[in-house]
Amino acid sequence: TIGMIAIDKDGNIAVATSTNGARHKIPGRVGDSPIIGAGGYAENGVGGAAATGDGDIIMRFLPSFKAVESLKAGLSPQESAEIAIKTIIKYYTEFVGGIVVVSANGIFGAACHGISKFPFSITRNDFPNTQVQEVNCL
Ligand code: ASP
Repeated sequence: TIGMIAIDKDGNIAVATSTNGARHKIPGRVGDSPIIGAGGYAENGVGGAAATGDGDIIMRFLPSFKAVESLKAGLSPQESAEIAIKTIIKYYTEFVGGIVVVSANGIFGAACHGISKFPFSITRNDFPNTQVQEVNCL
C-alpha cells in the first residue's frame, strides 16, 4: 500500500491509499485499501490514519477508523496507532501490517506488527524536506 494523509492550509484532512493487492488474490478481490475506515480514514479537526498489510484481516477491524476515534477521545497519535494494531493482534497473532496516524495539528505516530521496523515519510512546515522515520514494531 501507498497510504497518504494530507492536511491543507485550511485544516482540511484527506487520506488516500493505493494497493499492490495481495499474493494469490482472488480475481475481483477489493481488499482493505479502498474501504473507508479500513485502509484509511480522515476527519477534519481530528486527524487521519492509513493502514497497510494483510488487508483481508485489516478490513475486519477498521483500524483507521478506530485510530481516528481514539484521537477524538484524546489519545495521542502514537497511542491511537498502537491501540489499532493491538486490537488486531489480539485475534490474529500472525498479523503483518502497520498504520500511520496524524492528528489535526500535525503530530504523528505509527505502529506495526509482524516485521521488525516500519518506515514512513513525513513532510511538515517545520521540516519541509521529507524525512523518513521508522518505528519498532509491537
Ligand atoms: N493492504 C493491501 C491489501 O491487502 C496490501 C498492501 O499493503 O498493499 O490489499
